Amino acid sequence: DSMAVLSYLKSLNSAQLKAVQHPPQIPLQILAGPGSGKTKVLTSRIAHLILHHKFLPSSICAVTFTNKAANEMKERLTKLIGKEKTAEVRMGTFHALCALFLRKYASSIGLEGNFTVCDAEESKKIITPFLKKYKDDLAAKDITLKEATVLAIISKAKAKGLSASDFHHDIRIRSHAPKNSSDSQISSSTVNDIDLVVAEIYEDYEKTLRKNNSLDFDDLLLFGVKLFTENPTSVKWCRHVLVDEFQDTNVTQYALMEAIAFARCVTVVGDPDQSIYGWRSAEVGNLARMQKDFSSTEQIFLEQNYRSSSSILKASLAIVAQDKTRIQKSLHTSHPVGPIPVLRSFSSEQMEASFLAGEIKRIVAHMGGALNWGDFVVLLRFNALSRTIESALQKEGIPSRVLNGHKFFERLEIKDLLAYLQLVDNPQFVPAFVRAINTPARGIGEKTVSELLARADKSKVTLLDLVEKIHNGKIPDIKPPVRRKLASFVPSIRVLRNLASENTSPSDLIRRLVELIGYEDYLRKTQPDWDTRWENVQELITFASDVQSDLEDNLNLTVTAEAQQQETDVAEAPRETPLRLFLQASMLSSEGDQSKEGENEKVTISTCHSAKGLEWPVVMVPAVEQGTFPFYRTDDAEEERRLLYVACTRAQSLLYLSHATSRKVAGETKTKELSAFVSSVIKEDPTLFFDRPAMFSAPERKVICQVLNRPDPDEGEVTKRITEYNKTSRNRASEYEYDHSQGSSQGPQFMTFTSSGTWNSLNA
Ligand code: ATP
Ligand code: MG
Repeated sequence: DSMAVLSYLKSLNSAQLKAVQHPPQIPLQILAGPGSGKTKVLTSRIAHLILHHKFLPSSICAVTFTNKAANEMKERLTKLIGKEKTAEVRMGTFHALCALFLRKYASSIGLEGNFTVCDAEESKKIITPFLKKYKDDLAAKDITLKEATVLAIISKAKAKGLSASDFHHDIRIRSHAPKNSSDSQISSSTVNDIDLVVAEIYEDYEKTLRKNNSLDFDDLLLFGVKLFTENPTSVKWCRHVLVDEFQDTNVTQYALMEAIAFARCVTVVGDPDQSIYGWRSAEVGNLARMQKDFSSTEQIFLEQNYRSSSSILKASLAIVAQDKTRIQKSLHTSHPVGPIPVLRSFSSEQMEASFLAGEIKRIVAHMGGALNWGDFVVLLRFNALSRTIESALQKEGIPSRVLNGHKFFERLEIKDLLAYLQLVDNPQFVPAFVRAINTPARGIGEKTVSELLARADKSKVTLLDLVEKIHNGKIPDIKPPVRRKLASFVPSIRVLRNLASENTSPSDLIRRLVELIGYEDYLRKTQPDWDTRWENVQELITFASDVQSDLEDNLNLTVTAEAQQQETDVAEAPRETPLRLFLQASMLSSEGDQSKEGENEKVTISTCHSAKGLEWPVVMVPAVEQGTFPFYRTDDAEEERRLLYVACTRAQSLLYLSHATSRKVAGETKTKELSAFVSSVIKEDPTLFFDRPAMFSAPERKVICQVLNRPDPDEGEVTKRITEYNKTSRNRASEYEYDHSQGSSQGPQFMTFTSSGTWNSLNA
């Protein structure tokens, strides 16, 4: 065992080692730049707490920013301490952890254990009728207010920990605040009007959520804080809290951390230079706040980057260094220089996309199999930019996947089926009823639905009970056509509820559900792309059985003696039904993380935000343009700059930035300029980027592999692949030439920067 202890400490440098071995009872901040091993240290520290300090795995709480990051940490930890112990560590996003404990202790804070987690679409539907009430008022004042805006304001309030009444109070104070001139309130009046309306809606919205026995995503955190502060039993298990990406926590998440860490033992890792969620109310100030609140907090800095070649690190640091408000830090690498990051300009987004696709092919061939599709990522400022890239890749026959892109759980067919299951689990959840009642279309109009709603409200029964009564003819004044329309709905639900009460597996429930409502046939008749939708239904069944088997794994694990002791307080809590666990898993996955299928064989397309914490051998960032990056709608240009820094620092061996001089935006072709984030950098040092991609000579190949810690490619394989590539791509033999439509027709053009910072084309 002591050998095992040593083995995970061996691969750390001295600063990392110090962080891992830091006394558990002294709060710790590990502050360091990208690729310096923060996440690695956090994972090793968990192992150290368990193996060296003999903490119970289930007494450790590790918080990650996304489900994907949690899975990655699980994988890394499994290698250090094995599968069984890893499974016991409470690891996940703040949301997932809250959901878990809220279910267990629901009743102690006045919730029902079968609450439904409400997504943004359902929240919007709840808000619609309330917003309608203010429509005329707002219109008279020339204000347009949309559901999404209302939700965003409410969500911001919740991120700050403000309840509906806090929010109201807050506004009242602000509107009574003395003004310089009492009758010139014009500038602030619009904001006040919107806030006042939102305050009213916020209250109604909250009431409706509770009546529906549901929580929205922000509520998971707010109720989590409430639970962990009001019910000490719910956090008694916790001996140490570790938080990754701490720079992006908001006020409510900070409060959560404080509440869970009742033993005051916390380790956080972060990098202020990578704070990119200010737009979602993240507060980088939490780092300073923690030093105050946890007065003995110590800091450890890591200064060696293990991820990137030194030329990539140098160019990335130059970008972030343009932020003059930032605190200078040192970050170095012992990796070789490697190919200089590429910066290229194109005349259109199509030219740009086809260059990148061609380049991916060329790299794979010239690296002789040392790099594969899975080693590439295209990072975008926002998702809408992906279409051009996707189709260019497709044209070249390169398989790709969009990370967080198509939001599986937001698809029509998935939401349809989930609505039925939500309703079975929580008959009070109105959005699910409204959706299910007309899936497939049963001709029950909006008017009938609101009539049913009002009736259920009045007689204080759930909608399901009401329709059951109508179906059984117990409510005579309902018109026969309505009764007829309900005829197929009520028995289906009844069958499902019976199956669910017998703990039928969710995958079987879904199979039965699609049969009962004739869903395949319905899709075929109503959706032109019914076959891919039907595939998604199959995927949902797969997901359900995956959740089930994960669950069974975990159930086996919790019977270990150690764990049993830990779980005694929890044992009295109601047992989770398989259906509820499945619904929970699907709601929490809806933040976008998807199955890992094809991860290694496909080029990844992702937003820069979602790429946080991850790394790829080759990173391409297209559309590095003014108005796009920085995005024109931003309030915080420095945050945009940091986002570009985050994107560039994902790269290990090769980095490509590009821009198009004209790009179609919302159907209109717009002239575009290179992002000031980059042009200002090359003005100072034109050698940081080069418009000419690597030729992949033998020494270059060697260096690329060295940074990746991979064996050199086989020379025979390289020759073979290049020959193959030249055969199939002959027509594009000079594909890394500069776009001819721009320059002269005298053959390949390469662009370099003159010291004055203007483009200057040179013949190669
Ligand atoms: P980010 O800020 O982007 O989240 P990070 O600081 O969390 O980065 P990690 O992801 O933990 O960095 O590490 C970056 C890479 O460097 C990983 O591949 C990791 O395995 C490697 N690495 C970290 N420390 C060492 C080390 N001491 N020796 C070898 N490789 C290391
Ligand atoms: Mg990290």
